[in-house]
Parts: sequence; C-alpha cells; structure tokens
Amino acid sequence: GLSKLNGHLKPRYVRVNTLKMDVDSAVQELEKHYTVQRDETVPDLLVLPPGSDLHAHRLVANGRIFLQGKASSMVAAALQPEAGWEVLDACSAPGNKTIHLAALMQGQGKIIACELNEERVKRLEHTIKLSGASNIQVFHGDFLGLNPKDPSFAKVRAILLDPSCSGSGTITDRLDHLLPSHSADNMNYDSMRLHKLAVFQKKALAHALSFPQVERVVYSTCSIHQIENEDVVSSVLALASSLGFKLATPFPQWQRRGLPVFAGSEHLLRMDPVEDKEGFFIALFVKTNKLDNPKP
Ligand code: SAM
Repeated sequence: GLSKLNGHLKPRYVRVNTLKMDVDSAVQELEKHYTVQRDETVPDLLVLPPGSDLHAHRLVANGRIFLQGKASSMVAAALQPEAGWEVLDACSAPGNKTIHLAALMQGQGKIIACELNEERVKRLEHTIKLSGASNIQVFHGDFLGLNPKDPSFAKVRAILLDPSCSGSGTITDRLDHLLPSHSADNMNYDSMRLHKLAVFQKKALAHALSFPQVERVVYSTCSIHQIENEDVVSSVLALASSLGFKLATPFPQWQRRGLPVFAGSEHLLRMDPVEDKEGFFIALFVKTNKLDNPKP
C-alpha cells in the first residue's frame, strides 16, 4: 500500500539508542548487510538505502536502534537538553522523542513524559522499557491541566511540545487527498479540524512558555499548514517576549526556514514534503538571558 511507496521514496533512517549502544558499533553491525551513512544533521542518526527492511532486525528488537525518521530525530536534538536537567515532554506517546531526550541527557537528570490518551500511554511505557531509560516518569493526563507553579515542575528547564497535528506533512496524508472521496464536504471538515488543532496548539505552546524555570521550549509538528506552524508561533510572540523568550535558530546550517509571514520567521525550521521527502516544522524558544551564555 502507501507505506510501501513511502519506503521506496525515502531513505531508511535509524537512530542509535546511545543508552544501549554507541554509534560506531551500530555502524559496524549494520554495515554487514546495508550501506550505512551517518546523517549530516543529527549525530546519532544513520541513513540506509530506501526500502531497507529492518523491522525484524535484532538491533531493533532489543532497543539498540529505533526506526525514527530524520525530522522526528531533529526535535529532541534542537532542544539540546543537558545531562542532569529536568525536562518535560508535554505530548509524549509513543515516546520516540522522549527516549531520544533520555539518550541526549546520557540517562542523567529527569524526564517527565505527559500523555493524555490511555492506550497511547501503554505504547509510551513499552517504548521507554525497550530503550532502557530509567529516568523517565510517565504522567497520564492533560498537559494543559498541569499547574506550572506546582513544586514538582519547579526545576523543569526545558519543554518539548510535539502536539497532535493534522499530519499533513506525511506522504500517506498527502496521498489521501488524491482519493476520489476527497469531496468539498471533506475539505470543509478538514478546515474545521485544522482550526480545532490550532486552537489546542496555541494554548499548549503558551502553557509551555509559562513554566517558571523553563529556558528552552521546542514546538514541532509534522504538518505543512501555516495555521499549525507559523501562525501558532506568532500567536505567542508577545507572551514569549514578556517572559524573556526569543526565537532561536535550530540547526542554523539548515536552508529551509519558516514562511516569511512575520519578522523573525527566518529562525523557524521547515522541511518540505517533496524536496525533503517529509513535511515538518520546528520552532525553538530560548530565554534571552541564556542566549549568549556559552555552554560550560
Ligand atoms: N512526541 C511523540 C513521539 O515522538 O513519539 C509523538 C506525539 S503525537 C504527535 C501527539 C500526542 O499528544 C498524542 O499521543 C496525543 O494523544 C497527545 N495529546 C493530545 N492532547 C494532549 C494533551 N492535552 N495533553 C497531553 N497529551 C496530549
């Protein structure tokens, strides 16, 4: 079906779970059967030929590598959490980015993984178990219901917000639009759905910025729609600036930036569904007083 087509178009990306295996060893193992390259953007990401089927691979089964796309792997990397930090993953299931955070933090510090949907909490718990991470605390509930002033969040330094979105950047979604069933009624339904999603995305991003000790917030979607991307970011700019946040530039070497719809949108990162084979969006907010401090 469509996912097969997908597999032929895109290279197969695998992220090495550095909690269990180092990148060199993973390359050595995979090179026995595949042509393996290192991704130029994300250090723990490997690129294999399109169509490489690793679903049954031993390294996948034992959680040493995860089948995670490039865009998805750029999100936790954009947040740059430091080892020992407390980090909140606001919308976390199935947990691909949660366990990437854990790996980037070298298993140190603490991650709170929030997820609203009970079925998806189970998938999240499975992913965490497979990753071997021991510093992730799962919270089953509504991110918007978390009180930023609650003492349990007093030390949270970074938030990853990857909320529900239309998924319009994924090829399956785009091909759905070519089906004959895609009538005017569907289009109307789509625009209402987009509007509802955007309302939630705006609330969630404003909420993330309001945690008192947070100095880095990443907002990401796998959508190509301005209404879920640039418009969400621009809706919180005044609030962000009043709290001391500025837009920072994730992966400055990346060419494709936000749509030029407000001053500062050049900081945003976009991936194009055709050119980059995946539609995606990343925004990074950083507290201004932390912007110029070089890392120790
Ligand atoms: N970050 C995940 C990953 O990389 O594996 C994918 C997250 S998915 C795009 C969005 C998730 O947010 C869904 O699992 C959805 O159930 C959850 N969600 C939606 N509304 C939420 C809310 N109000 N609070 C917490 N989680 C929510």
